[in-house]
Amino acid sequence: MANKKDWKTKLIHSDATVPEGFHALATPVYRGSTVVFEHAAQASDRWNQLEIGYTYGLYGTPTTLELAAKICELEKGFRTFITPGGQAAISLIHLALLKAGDHVLLPESIYGPNRMFSNGVLRRFGVEVSYYPPGAGAGIRSEFKPNTRLVWCESPGSITMEVQDLPAIAQAAHEQGALAVLDNTWAAGIYLDAFALGMDVTMQALTKYVGGHSDLLLGSVTVRDEKIYERLGETHQVLGCAASPDDCSLALRGLKTMAVRLKAAEQNALALAQWLSARPEVETVLHPALPSCPGHELWKRDFTGSSGLFSVVFKPRYGKEQVLAFIDALRLFKIGYSWGGVTSLVMTYDLQSPKRPAYGSRLVRLYTGLEAIEDLLADVEQALARLTAD
Ligand SMILES: *Cc1c(COP(=O)(O)O)cnc(C)c1O
Repeated sequence: MANKKDWKTKLIHSDATVPEGFHALATPVYRGSTVVFEHAAQASDRWNQLEIGYTYGLYGTPTTLELAAKICELEKGFRTFITPGGQAAISLIHLALLKAGDHVLLPESIYGPNRMFSNGVLRRFGVEVSYYPPGAGAGIRSEFKPNTRLVWCESPGSITMEVQDLPAIAQAAHEQGALAVLDNTWAAGIYLDAFALGMDVTMQALTKYVGGHSDLLLGSVTVRDEKIYERLGETHQVLGCAASPDDCSLALRGLKTMAVRLKAAEQNALALAQWLSARPEVETVLHPALPSCPGHELWKRDFTGSSGLFSVVFKPRYGKEQVLAFIDALRLFKIGYSWGGVTSLVMTYDLQSPKRPAYGSRLVRLYTGLEAIEDLLADVEQALARLTAD
């Protein structure tokens, strides 16, 4: 029967159809805010769509939920939430699991913006925040207070790359009645079985290896059990931090090639790290797979691989100006934050806190992308000439 309605109505309520059964290999991008219910009595705005069916686009479309399910499968968790970025995953965890009067512990080596959120926002809301040495292991017990509810880990740590004793920290946290949370970005959720090691919650910046091409921002939070899932879900709903289905579809594409990209970045990083260890300009190389990295033995015990990010510390005779000249002389390594894409990157950090290792301004963080290793080595070699040029 022909559609007799006015064309303005047809624009919205069309009878046009297309054939079904388009069995493509790629996940469609499902965009959508409103979800239509069959009957009024079915309408619900609950967030747990995996259990009760679709209710609203804010809690994910099929594209978002497929990405969540795949991350959850890889990390061997109970459920995963997708957030608009890694930092949103971090703030979601804090806001869902802490309240005024609680105490949260973070390693001194934690990702900088996580520290900024803790100091700037959590303290403002009456949460006590303190930091522990990343090498604490079971000794973390001495840092606990009666109100400690959350213990963050990041292994290896941002910038200084300390590998942590996760099982010891998780066990101590549990004895205290606290939850153990891991920033699992470096291992891409792949090279570390966080839940088997006792973690309760993990997060990743999917921006890095899962995205893989420096063209999107996404994060994930994966939980051990249903109880934590409920706490996270209720806060995720009211924070309104939905991820774009378009970005999720790019991340789903990224996942398909992640095995070969991770392997290539790993091999390039190992080759460059080993080459740098033998250079006279270098004091130490902070790469978890090298014995010179703090916690290397723990890396051997707990990890099944390494990724493309590590740091190098130049000898004390090199000043800040020389280190900056070295970085500026690099041609293939681009100066930029973030990592996990195809392009090699470099960044320097000034570590002046007495609680951090005394690397000062001699630490340079490198990320090896997918370029040929010969070209990367040649690039670093020519830039080292600038370091020593005085
Ligand atoms: C990049 C990163 C984040 C934050 O991710 P964004 O997607 O950039 O917000 C969190 N933790 C670690 C370890 C990271 O490297």
